[in-house]
Amino acid sequence: MPLKGKKVGMYTCGPTVYDHPHIGHGRKYVYDDLLKRLLIYSGYQVMHVQNITDVGHLVSDADEGEDKLEAGAAKTGKSVWETAEMYIKGFYETMDKLNISRPDVVCRATEHVPEQIELIKRLVDKGFAYDTPEAVYFDVAKFPRYGELSGQRLADKMVAARQEVQTGSHKRNPADFALWFKLVGRFEKHVMKWDSPWGGGFPGWHIECSAMSMKYLGETFDIHTGGEDHIPVHHTNEIAQSEAATGKPFVKYWLHSAFLMVDGQKMSKSLGNMYRIEDVTEKGFNAMALRYLYLTAHYRTPLSFTWSSLAAAQSAYDKLCEFVRAGGREGGRARVELSKEKMKKIGQYRERFLEVVNNDLNFPQGLAVVWEMIKSNIPDMDKADLLLDWDQILGLSLVSAREDIKVPEEVTRMVNEREGLRKSGKFVEADAVRMQIEKLGFIVKDGPTGPAINVKRN
Ligand SMILES: [Zn+2]
Repeated sequence: MPLKGKKVGMYTCGPTVYDHPHIGHGRKYVYDDLLKRLLIYSGYQVMHVQNITDVGHLVSDADEGEDKLEAGAAKTGKSVWETAEMYIKGFYETMDKLNISRPDVVCRATEHVPEQIELIKRLVDKGFAYDTPEAVYFDVAKFPRYGELSGQRLADKMVAARQEVQTGSHKRNPADFALWFKLVGRFEKHVMKWDSPWGGGFPGWHIECSAMSMKYLGETFDIHTGGEDHIPVHHTNEIAQSEAATGKPFVKYWLHSAFLMVDGQKMSKSLGNMYRIEDVTEKGFNAMALRYLYLTAHYRTPLSFTWSSLAAAQSAYDKLCEFVRAGGREGGRARVELSKEKMKKIGQYRERFLEVVNNDLNFPQGLAVVWEMIKSNIPDMDKADLLLDWDQILGLSLVSAREDIKVPEEVTRMVNEREGLRKSGKFVEADAVRMQIEKLGFIVKDGPTGPAINVKRN
């Protein structure tokens, strides 16, 4: 139940813009998009806010290592600001390819430093944060509910953190985390810096999400999303600092997506299996096939990506497009009176689809309803109508399959020629013609009613 009638506030932890998004990011943001589309479909007005981390996210979530942005800039040879710009642009272009609707508000950490300083001040004034020579830290011992989200006990967390934290810091507790880094030691030459009541420096990663989400959505809001890797540190810290500052609950519902694995292994640069969305499209797959593949696993279950599972998703996706197209062809004809039994069936499919996807976003089951409906005996036109209706939630761009395809005469002639060769058993020759057709940007698929021509999409 949302806080204000039909209005829903939703915050998504966005990218740290020092690298390109990979297919694991795609999965996370597609599930956020599915939730958002489902809410909109159900009549809610969604205010969706997403941050861009362009400062303060260190190589380790636990305040260790360099600033990711500065490390990224060193790699590209550009300034930190140019590096951020470049990756922000690339990020949203990739999200567009996956048909992920853009947030209502995109907010950059570097453009909200005063808000972050304000929030840190509140925490210092209330005694939840303390100043040291190298940073202002949040004092986790002052917040008894610390770690509730992840089910970790503070004592365990402190033991775990103690092993990681290097000496030389003035933290009271190893689990304390930085709200403001000062320009000392490893950060002496930090490029991005601002003045603050505690001296020059830059904000830590966690504080930006609290400051910006509360700025745009209020001190308590409905939904906060992120990856499961955010649970133990980032979101735990967001809750602690927000609730300590306001004395109010921070978020009503959390949505955490599980990881994507590749060939059963964790993605990593060293294994060379960290694929980008462009790696998928360059191999001739449609980005929508990848989106379809994401839908086949529940968001709380790890999804194992393989090239063969993507190929299966591509052919399933093509079939859906074909049904939408077939229904469209029928659309011009007069409507035949449907039997009561068929009308009832259509209503039942409609209900069941919404029921399963509303049950904790069970999209794998949603797809099962889609295929059951497609295999049923209801008319093609109704199948296409249902698909297009559901696609407002699925976001598979099925409506683009309806766009008229203008096939050049030459291609039509070649398709007929190929069909003739196939009928006379000359499959090798037929295949050569198929390849020529592909070179012209079209693909031929053999269906039950003869060959169908489609535009080759990447
Ligand atoms: Zn965040």
